[in-house]
Amino acid sequence: MKNYELILKEHSLKVTPQRLGMLSIIDYVGHITIEELFANIRKDFCSISIATLYKNINSMVEVKILKEIKISNSKSKYEILKNEHSHMVCKKCEKLEDLNLCLDITIENASKKSGYIFDENALVLFGICPECQR
Ligand SMILES: [Zn+2]
Ligand SMILES: [Zn+2]
Repeated sequence: MKNYELILKEHSLKVTPQRLGMLSIIDYVGHITIEELFANIRKDFCSISIATLYKNINSMVEVKILKEIKISNSKSKYEILKNEHSHMVCKKCEKLEDLNLCLDITIENASKKSGYIFDENALVLFGICPECQR
């Protein structure tokens, strides 16, 4: 796990136990919805409200510690912002995973091909995962 205290400081955000708790949960599970995070964090911070959670998530998205993954017809998930990657979602069990194939689908390649200057990869591929195919 990374040093989130330092990361918060580097992004000029106040270091709070709640924020550190949120980041360690997200780091552990990879991708999480606000509701899942809320259920999880209440085990350690029973008095935290969902409004506080939203506020903290939004400020950490703003400074690019977290990234929101928008999924059509489903709730957004959040992850720790890291190197660029796409996502894949299973339509049956609804799990979401990172997709790091050497596809053409990186901002760099897409920019080269199209002449656009892209700054966000929000690509999500939908399908059926290997477990659900069995
Ligand atoms: Zn599945
Ligand atoms: Zn991801």
